[in-house]
Amino acid sequence: MSYKNFPMVPRVVFGRGSFNQLNDIITPKRLSSHAPFIFLVDDVFKGNYWLTSRIPLSYQDKIIYISANEEPKTSQVDELVEQLILTNKELPSGIIGIGGGTILDLAKAVSIMLTNKGSASDYQGWDLVKNPAVYHVGIPTISGTGAEVSRTTVLTGPEKKLGINSDHTPFDQVVLDPELTKDVPKDQWFYTGMDCYIHCIESLNGTYLNAFSQSYGEKAYDLCLEVFVKDELSIETSQDKLMMASWHGGMSIAYSQVGVAHAMSYGLSYLLGTKHGIGNCIVFNHLEEFYPEGVALFKKMMTIHDIELPKGICAHLDDHHFDTMIDVALSLEPLWENAIGKDWKKSITRDKLKALYQKM
Ligand code: NAD
Ligand code: ZN
Repeated sequence: MSYKNFPMVPRVVFGRGSFNQLNDIITPKRLSSHAPFIFLVDDVFKGNYWLTSRIPLSYQDKIIYISANEEPKTSQVDELVEQLILTNKELPSGIIGIGGGTILDLAKAVSIMLTNKGSASDYQGWDLVKNPAVYHVGIPTISGTGAEVSRTTVLTGPEKKLGINSDHTPFDQVVLDPELTKDVPKDQWFYTGMDCYIHCIESLNGTYLNAFSQSYGEKAYDLCLEVFVKDELSIETSQDKLMMASWHGGMSIAYSQVGVAHAMSYGLSYLLGTKHGIGNCIVFNHLEEFYPEGVALFKKMMTIHDIELPKGICAHLDDHHFDTMIDVALSLEPLWENAIGKDWKKSITRDKLKALYQKM
C-alpha cells in the first residue's frame, strides 16, 4: 500500500476585504516588465467597478473576461494559451483566476499549458504533467466546489470529461474573501453550496473514508448545516462559513473520493451540458437508496430555501442517449468503488442507472 503524497495550497489569505491585498501579494512575483499578470475574470463582473477597479494592473497586465455559461473545454484552454503566447514577449508572471469553479479551473489549466507543450487534452488523466506551471492564484467568488484547494482541473475534451490531476495543478496562492460572494444569485448559491454538501455526504459515506478525510468532511458538513439548515447566521457570517465549508469539503475529497451523484452528474454534463452544481442536485435528489439521511436532509434544505429543481430533463432521450450517459458514469470506476465497495459491478447495472436517469 502506498499513500498519496498530496500537495496543499502553500499560501492562503482569508478575510473580508482581503482582495485589497492582491497587489502586495503578487508584486514580488513579477518576473519582468514584459511578463504580465493575466487576470481571467468571470464576465459577470464586467462593468462591476466595485470589483474590477481593485484589480491591480501595471505594465502589460491584462484582464480577460470569460463567460461561465459553459464549463471549461480543452479547446478553450488551448486557444487562451495560444493567444497569450502570441501577444506577449515573455511568459506571463502569473495567471490569476477570479470567479467560480469554471474560472478557477481555467486558470489552473492555462497556467499548466503555458509551460507544457501540446493540447490540454493530452494531460487529462493522472500525473501526466511534466513541467511546473506558471505561478497561479485562485480567487473564488462563489463557494462550494472546492476547486480552490483541489489537485485537479476538470475539463471537457474531444473524447472525455476528465481532470488534469497533477502535483502542478493546485494554486500557489489562494485569496479567500467572502465579501466577493455577496451578489451570487440565490439559486446558484444553493446549487454550488450543495456541491460542497454532496462532497461531504459522498466522502463521509464512502468506503475510502479515513481519519484525514473524515476530519475535514465532518467540519464541512457541520458548516453546511449552519448555513443551509439552522439559518441563524448573519449574511456575512454565512458567507464566511460557506467559503470555509467549500475549502474543507475540497480537502475531504482530496484524500478520499466522491460517489454516485458525481458519477451520474458527469453523464448529464457530457450529454446535455448540465452544469456541475445543478446537475449534482438533480441526481442527488433521487439517491435515497444510496444516501438515505443525506438525501432526506437535502430535500428539507430545498424546502427551506424554496428551490425547485428542473424536472424531466431526460424525458426526450432515446436509448442511444441513455447509453452515452451510462458509459460516462460507469467509466468513473474509483467513484463507484468508493461509494459501493470493491464489488460495485454486481449491483450497479446499466438497467439500474437507466431507471435512475429516467426519473430525472
Ligand atoms: P460557475 O463558476 O460556473 O459559476 C456559476 C454561476 O455563478 C455563473 O453564472 C457565474 O457567472 C456566477 N457567479 C460566480 N460568482 C458570482 C458572483 N460573485 N456574483 C454573481 N454571480 C456569480 O459555478 P461553480 O459551481 O462555482 O463551478 C462549477 C465548475 O467547477 C464546473 O466546471 C466543475 O467541473 C468545476 N469543479 C471543479 C472542481 C475541482 O476540484 N477542480 C470541483 C468541483 C467542480
Ligand atoms: Zn463536485
